[in-house]
Parts: sequence; structure tokens; C-alpha cells
Amino acid sequence: MTARADVVVVGGGIVGAACAYYLCAAGLDVHLVERRFPASGTSRACDSLILLWDKTPGADLALAQTSAALWADLAEALDFDFEYARRGTILLAEDDEGMAAGQATAKAMQAAGVRAEVLDGGGLRSLEPNLAPDLAGGVLFPDDAQVDARRATLALLSAAQGRGLTLHTGAEVVAIRRSPGGDGRVCGVETRAGDVATDAVVCAAGVWSNDVARLVGVELPIRPRKGHILVAARVPGLIRHPLLEGGYVSTVQSATEDLQVALVAEMTASGTLLLGSSRQFVGFDRSVSLAVMRAIATRAVRFLPSLAKVKIIRSYAGLRPWSPDHLQLIGPLPGVPGFYLATGHEGAGIALSPVTGRLIADWVLGAELPPVAAEVRPDRFDLAVGIGESGDTDGPPSPNPG
Ligand SMILES: Cc1cc2nc3c(=O)[nH]c(=O)nc-3n(C[C@H](O)[C@H](O)[C@H](O)COP(=O)(O)OP(=O)(O)OC[C@H]3O[C@@H](n4cnc5c(N)ncnc54)[C@H](O)[C@@H]3O)c2cc1C
Repeated sequence: MTARADVVVVGGGIVGAACAYYLCAAGLDVHLVERRFPASGTSRACDSLILLWDKTPGADLALAQTSAALWADLAEALDFDFEYARRGTILLAEDDEGMAAGQATAKAMQAAGVRAEVLDGGGLRSLEPNLAPDLAGGVLFPDDAQVDARRATLALLSAAQGRGLTLHTGAEVVAIRRSPGGDGRVCGVETRAGDVATDAVVCAAGVWSNDVARLVGVELPIRPRKGHILVAARVPGLIRHPLLEGGYVSTVQSATEDLQVALVAEMTASGTLLLGSSRQFVGFDRSVSLAVMRAIATRAVRFLPSLAKVKIIRSYAGLRPWSPDHLQLIGPLPGVPGFYLATGHEGAGIALSPVTGRLIADWVLGAELPPVAAEVRPDRFDLAVGIGESGDTDGPPSPNPG
């Protein structure tokens, strides 16, 4: 492969796929380089909820609201079925304290224009009869949705290919070329499968974005935050909405190093049940821990007692690309003209991929940006260009633990 493109997107997860889709939709000649195959990273080892209520009002929620509307449009526009379903989600409250917290969340969301319906114990059980009978109640958020993350990645890529995307798989990026003089603008990428000349590179490599950014001498503040999922055997009808315990939101927003577990239960189109969710910082280790599985299963049985008799048929762990202020890094990398970041989505990369792709297309085209774009600019962090500065492309690639 020796090619020329307007833009090269690095990473074939859901974020890279969305970037490719919106860049192609804007009429650019786009190449996507993925070191393995589409959705081979975190975008196949996750839940697939398009959640609003776990976001903080402000930029976080505004991005999620825009993205949720874009997902609804994509479900209409794309030929490839990615199992989009807007059936809402339910926050579960175990007791009066949980109920008060749920009511506060409902109020904050309503004030930001998100629909929320508070349910007492009876109301909750009429929507979800298989829940434990002692739960105090919950909150229904009718606008939340779900997709199949892998299928959604493929749907975006397939639509982008229909608009001219060139997809290179087995093409790990090992160097970023910079113009030798002047401002050190990017001028190409080198992969294990060949090179692509370009004036714009979008780094959408999830938790491995740091390895790619190091190729232009920049250290990103992204850390892998591990999450486990158990897959329960088919139990069609056991739940009617995705269910999350109220404490889930504090696990999302905290930055503790310790293991945290909160119930997330999501039914797939085939009737299997995805049970999560854990959060912990343990580097790039993706092995499955029996202790974490037990902790998730215990929470699941607490809320859905009949699961005690259901077999777990599979389990996996994925790595969320965590950023220190819980906002993404979307936009140009300071000091490296032509290099853009689309990373740091932690547990919201499925939900936020369309809005990320739209913002990246705006940045690359030099189009007018929505005000929220300023909140996720990478230059809010001190990302000094250090190692291997402009023009230096000869160094060995840093080890990529994936
Ligand atoms: C347990 C769990 C549950 C989750 N639940 C949800 C949820 O319900 N809703 C939600 O919105 N989000 C959820 N998330 C988060 C979501 O899965 C991630 O934010 C999202 O998948 C990140 O996508 P990405 O494209 O940035 O990264 P990835 O999917 O990891 O893609 C990055 C790609 O880059 C490639 N790559 C890396 N280095 C190179 C290189 N040098 N050259 C070429 N290619 C390279 C990798 O092979 C990979 O395919 C969950 C995550 C976990 C772990």
C-alpha cells in the first residue's frame, strides 16, 4: 500500500468509524488504518447503551444529547441494521436513600431537557415484574437507547465505504511523518502494511491513543480503565428495559483506583443478557477475574433474583479510555499541525461516537464549531511536544500492549 488521502483515521473502533463516516460524508478522501480488524479493541468488549442520565449537566450532557439525536438519524439513514432500540433505561433505587438520589437525578435531567419519570415500588414492578420485590422504586429515562456496538461500528464503516472510504486492516501505524521544515506539519503515516501520504491524521486509537501520540512526541493523560461483562444464557423477556442501579453514576464519575461494581443489565436482540459493570485501573491487563465476576453476579442476583439459576455462558473485559476530567479529547493536538485527537471517551464511547465524528469533520474542514467544542479541546491539558519532535520519524514505535 502506498497511497494518498485527504485524511487518515487511525483506529477502527466505533470512534474511528464515526470519524471516517462524517469525514467521508463531508466529501473528503479518507483512509482508515486499523492494526487488526474493525471493532477489535474496546468496541467489541463493552455494553452498548446510549445513556443520557449518567452525564453531568453542561458539556458532558450537551454532547450526549446531540449524539443521541445523531444515533436516531443514523438508525434511519444506514442500510446496515445495528439493532438500535430506543426503549429507555431504568435507574433502580434499593431504598429510600437511593430513591432520594434518583429523584435528584431526575430533577437535574428534567432541568436540562431530558425526560424522566419517577416510579414508586409498584410502578417499577409493573414495568419490570422480575425485579426483587423489596426495591423502593426507580426512574424511567424514556429517551435512552441501545445498539449493538460491533454492528454499529461495521454499519458506520460500511456507509463510509459507500462514500469512498478506503479501509486498511492489519495496518498498525508505526510512524507519523512530519514535514522537515517549517511547522512540522504531518505529511503521512507509516504502517506495517504500507504508507499513506496525507496532511491530516485523526488519532482514534482508544486506550492505545497514547502510543500513537508518542509517535509525534506527545504524552496524553489517557489511562485504561478496565470493565468486565458477564453474558448470561438466553432469558427472553426477563427484563424489558436496560437496568442500572443508581450507584452506577458515582462509579462513572469517581476516579478511585479501587474496584467498583454497580449493576448494569442489558438484553441483546438474541435474548442473552449482558451483566456489568466493573471499573478499576489495572493497566492494560484484559484478563477476566473470577473475583470481579462474582461481584457482578452478586449485584445482578440482588436485583434480579431469578438469575441465580441462569448459566453464565461467556465473560470478557474491555478497557475504557479514561481522561482525568471525564471529558473527551476531541480536536487538534497543539504543536503538531494536522494531527487531531478523538479519544478519552471512557464509558461513553458508543454514545458519543457520532458527535465526535461530527466535531472532527468540522475541525478538519475548518467549519464553524459549536460552543461545546471548546470544552473538549485537547489543549486544555498541558500536552507539551517533547520526545521525537517535528520531523523525527525514525524512532522505533513504542510497545503497543493491545
Ligand atoms: C465493560 C464496558 C462497558 C461499556 N459500556 C458502554 C456503554 O454502555 N455505552 C457507551 O457509550 N460506552 C460504553 N463503554 C465504553 C466504550 O466501549 C468505549 O468508550 C469505546 O468502545 C471506545 O471506542 P474507541 O473507538 O475509542 O476505541 P477502540 O474500540 O478500542 O478502538 C481503537 C482501535 O484502534 C486500534 N489501534 C490501536 N493502536 C493502533 C495503531 N498503532 N495503528 C492502527 N490501529 C490501532 C485498535 O486495534 C482498536 O481497534 C463500555 C466499555 C467497557 C469496557
